[in-house]
Amino acid sequence: MQFESVIGLEIHIQLATESKIFCSCSTEFGKPPNTNTCPVCLGLPGALPVLNRRVPELAAKLGLALNCDIRTDSQFARKNYFYPDLPKAYQISQFDRPICENGWLDINTNSKGESRIGITRIHMEEDAGKLIHEDMGTESMVDLNRAGVPLLEIVSEPDIRSAEEAKAYMVKIHAIATTIGISVGDMEKGHLRCDANVSLRPMEQKEFGIRTETKNLNSFRFVQQAIDYEIERQREEILDGAKIVQETRLWDTNRKVTFSMRSKEEADEYRYFPDPDLPLAKLSPELIDTLKQNLPELPDAKKKRFIEKYGLNDYDAGVLTASQEISKYFET
Ligand code: ADP
Ligand code: MG
Ligand code: ZN
Repeated sequence: MQFESVIGLEIHIQLATESKIFCSCSTEFGKPPNTNTCPVCLGLPGALPVLNRRVPELAAKLGLALNCDIRTDSQFARKNYFYPDLPKAYQISQFDRPICENGWLDINTNSKGESRIGITRIHMEEDAGKLIHEDMGTESMVDLNRAGVPLLEIVSEPDIRSAEEAKAYMVKIHAIATTIGISVGDMEKGHLRCDANVSLRPMEQKEFGIRTETKNLNSFRFVQQAIDYEIERQREEILDGAKIVQETRLWDTNRKVTFSMRSKEEADEYRYFPDPDLPLAKLSPELIDTLKQNLPELPDAKKKRFIEKYGLNDYDAGVLTASQEISKYFET
Protein backbone atom coordinates (compact mmCIF):
# COMPACT_ATOMS: atom_id res chain seq x y z
CA MET A 1 0.00 0.00 0.00
CA GLN A 2 1.16 3.52 -0.82
CA PHE A 3 0.98 6.20 1.87
CA GLU A 4 1.16 9.94 1.86
CA SER A 5 2.79 11.64 4.84
CA VAL A 6 1.08 14.65 6.38
CA ILE A 7 3.18 16.99 8.51
CA GLY A 8 2.49 20.12 10.55
CA LEU A 9 5.21 21.94 12.45
CA GLU A 10 5.11 23.98 15.64
CA ILE A 11 8.24 26.14 15.79
CA HIS A 12 9.39 28.04 18.87
CA ILE A 13 11.61 31.07 18.31
CA GLN A 14 13.41 32.89 21.09
CA LEU A 15 13.08 36.64 20.67
CA ALA A 16 16.10 38.93 20.80
CA THR A 17 14.99 41.11 23.71
CA GLU A 18 17.31 42.18 26.51
CA SER A 19 14.76 41.56 29.22
CA LYS A 20 12.20 38.82 29.80
CA ILE A 21 8.60 38.98 28.60
CA PHE A 22 6.88 39.87 31.90
CA CYS A 23 9.68 41.21 34.15
CA SER A 24 12.89 43.20 33.78
CA CYS A 25 15.26 40.26 34.38
CA SER A 26 18.02 39.83 31.82
CA THR A 27 17.72 37.16 29.11
CA GLU A 28 21.50 36.76 28.93
CA PHE A 29 22.55 33.17 28.31
CA GLY A 30 25.11 31.31 30.42
CA LYS A 31 24.76 33.17 33.72
CA PRO A 32 25.14 31.22 36.97
CA PRO A 33 21.93 29.23 37.63
CA ASN A 34 18.98 31.17 39.08
CA THR A 35 20.68 34.57 39.01
CA ASN A 36 18.50 36.06 36.22
CA THR A 37 15.40 35.76 38.38
CA CYS A 38 12.95 37.89 40.38
CA PRO A 39 9.61 37.35 42.17
CA VAL A 40 7.72 37.51 38.84
CA CYS A 41 9.64 34.82 36.94
CA LEU A 42 10.05 32.74 40.09
CA GLY A 43 6.26 32.71 40.32
CA LEU A 44 6.17 34.01 43.91
CA PRO A 45 2.71 34.75 45.32
CA GLY A 46 1.46 38.26 44.64
CA ALA A 47 4.00 39.11 41.94
CA LEU A 48 2.36 40.60 38.84
CA PRO A 49 3.50 40.36 35.19
CA VAL A 50 3.93 43.45 33.00
CA LEU A 51 4.25 42.90 29.24
CA ASN A 52 7.56 43.84 27.61
CA ARG A 53 6.36 46.21 24.87
CA ARG A 54 8.97 44.96 22.39
CA VAL A 55 7.43 41.49 22.29
CA PRO A 56 4.15 42.22 20.44
CA GLU A 57 6.09 44.45 18.04
CA LEU A 58 8.50 41.65 17.17
CA ALA A 59 5.59 39.20 16.88
CA ALA A 60 3.78 41.56 14.49
CA LYS A 61 6.94 41.93 12.38
CA LEU A 62 7.16 38.17 11.95
CA GLY A 63 3.44 37.97 11.24
CA LEU A 64 3.78 40.60 8.51
CA ALA A 65 6.75 38.77 6.97
CA LEU A 66 4.66 35.56 6.98
CA ASN A 67 1.59 37.18 5.39
CA CYS A 68 -0.58 36.96 8.51
CA ASP A 69 -3.49 39.05 9.77
CA ILE A 70 -2.30 40.96 12.85
CA ARG A 71 -4.68 41.27 15.81
CA THR A 72 -4.69 44.72 17.43
CA ASP A 73 -6.00 43.41 20.78
CA SER A 74 -4.62 39.94 21.35
CA GLN A 75 -5.08 38.19 24.67
CA PHE A 76 -2.86 36.22 27.02
CA ALA A 77 -4.14 32.98 28.52
CA ARG A 78 -3.00 30.64 31.23
CA LYS A 79 -2.00 27.16 30.11
CA ASN A 80 -2.10 25.07 33.26
CA TYR A 81 0.25 22.20 33.86
CA PHE A 82 2.37 21.08 36.74
CA TYR A 83 6.06 20.48 36.17
CA PRO A 84 9.16 21.48 38.16
CA ASP A 85 10.45 23.84 35.44
CA LEU A 86 7.27 25.93 35.68
CA PRO A 87 7.04 27.57 39.12
CA LYS A 88 3.58 29.14 38.67
CA ALA A 89 2.14 25.78 37.53
CA TYR A 90 0.84 27.60 34.46
CA GLN A 91 2.54 29.07 31.42
CA ILE A 92 1.40 32.46 30.16
CA SER A 93 0.63 31.86 26.49
CA GLN A 94 -2.16 32.76 24.07
CA PHE A 95 -5.16 30.64 23.17
CA ASP A 96 -8.12 31.74 21.08
CA ARG A 97 -6.97 35.31 20.43
CA PRO A 98 -3.37 34.98 19.24
CA ILE A 99 -1.52 37.98 17.83
CA CYS A 100 -1.19 36.59 14.25
CA GLU A 101 -3.34 34.24 12.15
CA ASN A 102 -3.95 33.04 8.58
CA GLY A 103 -0.54 33.46 6.98
CA TRP A 104 1.50 31.47 4.50
CA LEU A 105 5.05 30.78 3.41
CA ASP A 106 6.30 29.55 0.02
CA ILE A 107 9.10 26.99 0.12
CA ASN A 108 11.17 25.30 -2.53
CA THR A 109 12.50 21.74 -2.62
CA ASN A 110 14.42 19.74 -5.22
CA SER A 111 11.88 16.95 -5.40
CA LYS A 112 8.68 19.01 -5.52
CA GLY A 113 9.59 22.56 -6.51
CA GLU A 114 7.47 25.33 -5.00
CA SER A 115 4.77 24.70 -2.40
CA ARG A 116 2.77 27.03 -0.20
CA ILE A 117 2.54 26.16 3.50
CA GLY A 118 -0.29 27.71 5.49
CA ILE A 119 0.50 29.37 8.82
CA THR A 120 -2.36 28.80 11.22
CA ARG A 121 -1.22 31.19 13.93
CA ILE A 122 1.67 32.83 15.73
CA HIS A 123 1.36 33.43 19.45
CA MET A 124 3.49 34.96 22.20
CA GLU A 125 4.44 33.00 25.31
CA GLU A 126 7.02 32.66 28.07
CA ASP A 127 9.68 29.95 28.09
CA ALA A 128 9.93 27.51 31.01
CA GLY A 129 13.02 26.91 33.13
CA LYS A 130 15.60 24.24 32.54
CA LEU A 131 15.89 20.91 34.33
CA ILE A 132 19.29 19.26 34.62
CA HIS A 133 19.25 15.51 35.17
CA GLU A 134 22.80 14.59 34.14
CA ASP A 135 25.15 13.30 36.84
CA MET A 136 22.53 13.88 39.49
CA GLY A 137 21.64 10.29 40.37
CA THR A 138 17.97 10.26 41.34
CA GLU A 139 17.80 14.03 41.77
CA SER A 140 17.30 16.87 39.30
CA MET A 141 18.44 20.49 39.34
CA VAL A 142 16.25 23.43 38.34
CA ASP A 143 17.61 26.57 36.65
CA LEU A 144 15.00 29.30 36.20
CA ASN A 145 17.18 31.76 34.24
CA ARG A 146 15.25 30.78 31.10
CA ALA A 147 11.82 31.02 32.78
CA GLY A 148 10.05 34.03 31.28
CA VAL A 149 12.30 34.42 28.24
CA PRO A 150 10.02 35.53 25.35
CA LEU A 151 9.08 33.03 22.65
CA LEU A 152 6.95 33.07 19.56
CA GLU A 153 5.25 29.83 18.56
CA ILE A 154 4.49 29.47 14.85
CA VAL A 155 1.93 26.77 14.07
CA SER A 156 1.71 25.54 10.48
CA GLU A 157 -1.23 23.98 8.73
CA PRO A 158 -0.75 20.25 8.00
CA ASP A 159 0.39 21.19 4.47
CA ILE A 160 3.90 19.71 4.55
CA ARG A 161 4.33 16.37 2.75
CA SER A 162 7.92 15.26 3.34
CA ALA A 163 10.89 15.62 5.69
CA GLU A 164 12.64 17.55 2.93
CA GLU A 165 9.82 20.10 2.84
CA ALA A 166 9.78 20.31 6.65
CA LYS A 167 13.47 21.14 6.67
CA ALA A 168 13.07 23.72 3.90
CA TYR A 169 10.23 25.34 5.86
CA MET A 170 12.28 25.51 9.06
CA VAL A 171 15.36 26.87 7.24
CA LYS A 172 13.21 29.58 5.69
CA ILE A 173 11.55 30.55 8.97
CA HIS A 174 15.07 30.86 10.44
CA ALA A 175 16.23 32.99 7.50
CA ILE A 176 13.22 35.31 7.82
CA ALA A 177 13.45 35.63 11.61
CA THR A 178 17.14 36.55 11.48
CA THR A 179 16.70 38.85 8.48
CA ILE A 180 13.99 40.91 10.16
CA GLY A 181 16.08 40.86 13.33
CA ILE A 182 13.53 39.43 15.76
CA SER A 183 15.83 36.59 16.85
CA VAL A 184 19.55 35.92 16.97
CA GLY A 185 18.66 32.47 15.68
CA ASP A 186 21.49 30.65 17.47
CA MET A 187 20.45 27.01 17.12
CA GLU A 188 23.08 25.80 19.59
CA LYS A 189 21.46 27.94 22.27
CA GLY A 190 18.03 26.59 21.39
CA HIS A 191 16.72 29.79 19.80
CA LEU A 192 14.77 27.73 17.24
CA ARG A 193 13.06 24.49 18.28
CA CYS A 194 10.54 22.46 16.41
CA ASP A 195 7.78 20.00 17.31
CA ALA A 196 6.93 17.79 14.33
CA ASN A 197 3.42 16.37 13.95
CA VAL A 198 3.44 13.43 11.55
CA SER A 199 0.71 11.14 10.27
CA LEU A 200 0.21 8.85 7.28
CA ARG A 201 -2.82 8.22 5.13
CA PRO A 202 -3.37 5.84 2.24
CA MET A 203 -2.96 7.64 -1.11
CA GLU A 204 -6.29 9.07 -2.26
CA GLN A 205 -7.78 8.99 1.25
CA LYS A 206 -9.18 12.37 2.28
CA GLU A 207 -9.16 12.13 6.07
CA PHE A 208 -5.91 12.55 7.95
CA GLY A 209 -4.48 9.65 9.93
CA ILE A 210 -3.66 9.67 13.65
CA ARG A 211 -0.58 11.80 14.33
CA THR A 212 2.36 11.66 16.67
CA GLU A 213 4.20 14.76 17.85
CA THR A 214 7.99 14.57 18.17
CA LYS A 215 9.11 17.36 20.48
CA ASN A 216 12.06 19.68 20.78
CA LEU A 217 13.99 19.12 17.57
CA ASN A 218 16.69 21.77 17.74
CA SER A 219 18.55 21.36 14.45
CA PHE A 220 17.53 21.23 10.79
CA ARG A 221 19.16 17.82 10.50
CA PHE A 222 17.26 16.39 13.50
CA VAL A 223 13.96 17.62 12.06
CA GLN A 224 14.61 15.82 8.81
CA GLN A 225 15.94 12.64 10.44
CA ALA A 226 13.17 12.40 13.03
CA ILE A 227 10.40 12.90 10.45
CA ASP A 228 11.91 10.35 8.06
CA TYR A 229 12.21 7.88 10.93
CA GLU A 230 8.64 8.53 12.09
CA ILE A 231 7.20 8.10 8.58
CA GLU A 232 8.94 4.75 8.21
CA ARG A 233 8.00 3.60 11.73
CA GLN A 234 4.33 4.44 11.21
CA ARG A 235 4.33 2.77 7.79
CA GLU A 236 5.63 -0.46 9.30
CA GLU A 237 3.17 -0.30 12.19
CA ILE A 238 0.23 0.19 9.84
CA LEU A 239 1.37 -2.58 7.49
CA ASP A 240 1.72 -4.86 10.53
CA GLY A 241 -1.93 -4.17 11.31
CA ALA A 242 -1.12 -2.11 14.43
CA LYS A 243 -2.87 1.15 15.29
CA ILE A 244 -0.94 4.43 15.57
CA VAL A 245 -1.61 6.04 18.94
CA GLN A 246 -1.71 9.79 19.34
CA GLU A 247 1.26 10.49 21.55
CA THR A 248 4.20 12.75 22.26
CA ARG A 249 7.58 11.35 21.29
CA LEU A 250 11.21 12.39 21.62
CA TRP A 251 14.15 12.07 19.23
CA ASP A 252 17.15 10.10 20.51
CA THR A 253 20.09 11.79 18.77
CA ASN A 254 22.48 8.90 19.48
CA ARG A 255 20.33 5.93 18.52
CA LYS A 256 18.56 7.94 15.78
CA VAL A 257 15.08 6.75 16.77
CA THR A 258 11.96 8.41 18.16
CA PHE A 259 10.56 6.98 21.40
CA SER A 260 7.32 7.50 23.27
CA MET A 261 7.32 10.08 26.07
CA ARG A 262 3.65 10.32 27.07
CA SER A 263 0.19 10.03 25.62
CA LYS A 264 -0.99 13.23 24.02
CA GLU A 265 -2.72 15.82 26.20
CA GLU A 266 -5.71 17.67 24.77
CA ALA A 267 -6.32 21.41 24.94
CA ASP A 268 -9.06 20.99 27.57
CA GLU A 269 -6.61 19.31 29.93
CA TYR A 270 -4.67 22.58 30.02
CA ARG A 271 -7.78 24.43 31.26
CA TYR A 272 -6.91 27.55 29.26
CA PHE A 273 -8.49 30.75 30.47
CA PRO A 274 -7.73 34.47 29.92
CA ASP A 275 -4.98 35.64 32.26
CA PRO A 276 -6.68 38.11 34.62
CA ASP A 277 -3.31 39.69 35.51
CA LEU A 278 -2.70 41.05 32.01
CA PRO A 279 -4.67 43.53 29.89
CA LEU A 280 -5.16 42.92 26.16
CA ALA A 281 -1.95 43.42 24.17
CA LYS A 282 -2.86 46.45 22.06
CA LEU A 283 -1.13 47.38 18.83
CA SER A 284 -2.32 50.42 16.88
CA PRO A 285 -3.01 50.02 13.15
CA GLU A 286 -0.56 52.91 12.62
CA LEU A 287 2.22 51.04 14.37
CA ILE A 288 1.47 47.88 12.37
CA ASP A 289 1.62 49.97 9.21
CA THR A 290 4.96 51.49 10.21
CA LEU A 291 6.36 48.04 10.99
CA LYS A 292 5.21 46.87 7.57
CA GLN A 293 6.80 49.82 5.76
CA ASN A 294 10.07 49.23 7.57
CA LEU A 295 10.45 45.49 7.00
CA PRO A 296 13.86 44.83 5.43
CA GLU A 297 14.30 42.96 2.17
CA LEU A 298 13.09 39.39 2.80
CA PRO A 299 15.06 36.28 1.70
CA ASP A 300 12.95 35.61 -1.43
CA ALA A 301 13.37 39.16 -2.72
CA LYS A 302 17.03 39.10 -1.82
CA LYS A 303 17.52 35.83 -3.68
CA LYS A 304 15.88 37.29 -6.78
CA ARG A 305 18.07 40.36 -6.56
CA PHE A 306 21.25 38.27 -6.13
CA ILE A 307 20.38 36.33 -9.29
CA GLU A 308 19.72 39.48 -11.29
CA LYS A 309 22.43 41.73 -9.89
CA TYR A 310 25.30 39.26 -9.45
CA GLY A 311 24.41 36.70 -12.14
CA LEU A 312 24.24 33.87 -9.61
CA ASN A 313 22.41 30.63 -10.32
CA ASP A 314 19.31 29.69 -8.34
CA TYR A 315 21.12 27.27 -6.01
CA ASP A 316 23.97 29.63 -5.12
CA ALA A 317 21.59 32.53 -4.56
CA GLY A 318 19.50 30.28 -2.30
CA VAL A 319 22.49 29.27 -0.17
CA LEU A 320 23.76 32.84 0.09
CA THR A 321 20.38 34.19 1.24
CA ALA A 322 19.49 31.37 3.67
CA SER A 323 20.91 33.37 6.53
CA GLN A 324 21.26 37.06 7.21
CA GLU A 325 24.86 36.58 8.35
CA ILE A 326 25.99 34.93 5.12
CA SER A 327 24.17 37.30 2.74
CA LYS A 328 25.56 40.31 4.57
CA TYR A 329 29.08 38.92 4.42
CA PHE A 330 28.69 38.10 0.74
CA GLU A 331 27.47 41.57 -0.16
CA THR A 332 30.16 43.29 1.89
P1 ADP B 1 -2.12 20.68 19.55
O1 ADP B 1 -2.47 22.04 20.06
O2 ADP B 1 -2.73 19.58 20.29
O3 ADP B 1 -0.66 20.48 19.37
P2 ADP B 1 -3.17 21.44 16.92
O4 ADP B 1 -4.49 21.06 16.36
O5 ADP B 1 -2.96 22.86 17.26
O6 ADP B 1 -2.84 20.51 18.13
O7 ADP B 1 -2.10 21.01 15.84
C1 ADP B 1 -0.78 21.12 16.07
C2 ADP B 1 -0.04 20.84 14.79
O8 ADP B 1 -0.36 19.55 14.29
C3 ADP B 1 -0.34 21.81 13.66
O9 ADP B 1 0.88 22.19 13.07
C4 ADP B 1 -1.19 20.99 12.68
O10 ADP B 1 -0.94 21.39 11.35
C5 ADP B 1 -0.64 19.60 12.91
N1 ADP B 1 -1.61 18.51 12.64
C6 ADP B 1 -2.90 18.43 13.01
N2 ADP B 1 -3.45 17.27 12.62
C7 ADP B 1 -2.46 16.58 11.98
C8 ADP B 1 -2.40 15.27 11.35
N3 ADP B 1 -3.44 14.44 11.31
N4 ADP B 1 -1.21 14.91 10.81
C9 ADP B 1 -0.13 15.72 10.87
N5 ADP B 1 -0.15 16.93 11.44
C10 ADP B 1 -1.28 17.36 11.99
MG1 MG C 1 1.31 20.79 19.99
ZN1 ZN D 1 12.22 38.02 36.51
